[in-house]
Amino acid sequence: MDKVKRVFSSESSSQDAELGDLHAQIITRDAHNISRDDISENALKVLYRLHSSGYAAYLVGGCVRDLLLGLKPKDFDVVTDATPEQIKGLFRNCRLIGRRFRLAHIVFGRDVIEVATFRGHHSESDAGSHKNALSRQGEEGQLLRDNVFGSIDEDAQRRDFTVNAMYYNIADYSIADYAGGVDALKAKEIALMGDPETRYREDPVRMLRAVRFAAKLDFSISKNTEAKIPELANLLSNVPPARLFEEVSKLFLSGNAVATFRLMQRYHLFGELFPQVQPLLENTAGREYRFIEKVLLNTDNRINSGLRVTPAFFYAAILWYAVEERVQQHIFEGGFNHHDAFNLSMNDVLVRQVERIAIPKRFSTGIRDIWMLQKRLAKRFGKRAYMSLEHPKFRAGYDFLLIRGEIEGGELEELAHWWTQFQQAESGKRKNMLSSLRGNDGRKRRRRKPRNSSNS
Ligand code: ATP
Ligand code: MG
Repeated sequence: MDKVKRVFSSESSSQDAELGDLHAQIITRDAHNISRDDISENALKVLYRLHSSGYAAYLVGGCVRDLLLGLKPKDFDVVTDATPEQIKGLFRNCRLIGRRFRLAHIVFGRDVIEVATFRGHHSESDAGSHKNALSRQGEEGQLLRDNVFGSIDEDAQRRDFTVNAMYYNIADYSIADYAGGVDALKAKEIALMGDPETRYREDPVRMLRAVRFAAKLDFSISKNTEAKIPELANLLSNVPPARLFEEVSKLFLSGNAVATFRLMQRYHLFGELFPQVQPLLENTAGREYRFIEKVLLNTDNRINSGLRVTPAFFYAAILWYAVEERVQQHIFEGGFNHHDAFNLSMNDVLVRQVERIAIPKRFSTGIRDIWMLQKRLAKRFGKRAYMSLEHPKFRAGYDFLLIRGEIEGGELEELAHWWTQFQQAESGKRKNMLSSLRGNDGRKRRRRKPRNSSNS
């Protein structure tokens, strides 16, 4: 926090520069805290190469925001006035990607620096016309394609939030702040640039981004920016499900999933993404709500201690009670036995969910595994317990069961506890644990008929 104060303390050395129809405040090097030591070496290489080749080169977006806050950026995004082809001409390790907007990826082993050309304005008259490229809008005002190159001030106008429209200039290490981003950081506020309704209609994902940044930075969302979200949340149904998968992963794998989930509830965003689940969440003290929160807390703790997490786990958790509810329907309305009802329900819930969020196959397989293990772990007789231990997803299934146990208590908690002990036990103790289960583990006890009645 010290750092932040230092950044904002010497506003007198800032000067206003007018650029196009946006005013950028230029914050000179001595008036901010961003040091080249905090910038990744690869990002610096890219910036310097562009600059020495005569192009403008800036860091932009989240990395500038995070550096000003003294946080470690997730990635470094570069913008330039060089076109993708010109960028490609400068870097051997360059790949051009993207249909919606052509971007250059400069590849350094596993590290990739994304370089974008300044984006220009889009308007109805640009549609199908001949600026540098094309832009097109859908019926809801959504931007479908936007490949119009422009100047830095046009580019700034296209950014989403004021805190994301700051540019770090490699030429003189100054920061161009186009929309009062520095003040917004000081006020700890997420505010959209421009008219919120227009901006959300252009790209409904901005509603999710508002929530994500507010949760991550512990900022509030400005009045103006939050007001329209509940009303426009249904526009998320126009977003391609594959893009929503990416966004939802960012929401829940940011290390701030609990805060994010609460904000999504507050702004009615969650139900748009998980329509089968929202009806179960009316009561925040109910087990369904508490279970999701608990799993997300678990996810946050794992991420914040550097442990691995898989999207399969939180999807399995979010959808779990929707599956259970469907099972009851299949049993009571369809007359199915539990086994069949369960299999049908897993399918029903996933099929409906992927209409909204395109969960890739490798994760939906993981989700099913975790669900099926909930049934398997209840059956321990014979060799079953040993077989479950060998299941590749055993650990995830067991962790899931533990949290269910904590929420529901009773037999479920006992079962989870049993598994905790069974894993730790020596083989002799394991045998005892199994034999003392008898008849208690979901197996129907077979009555042995006395062979010889005279014996009894
Ligand atoms: P982080 O990388 O920490 O999640 P970020 O702000 O860098 O946050 P990115 O998704 O990496 O987010 O996007 C980089 C920048 O691109 C943003 O800061 C913003 O300026 C711009 N941007 C990204 N998505 C949008 C969008 N949907 N609408 C407008 N601008 C966007
Ligand atoms: Mg980023």
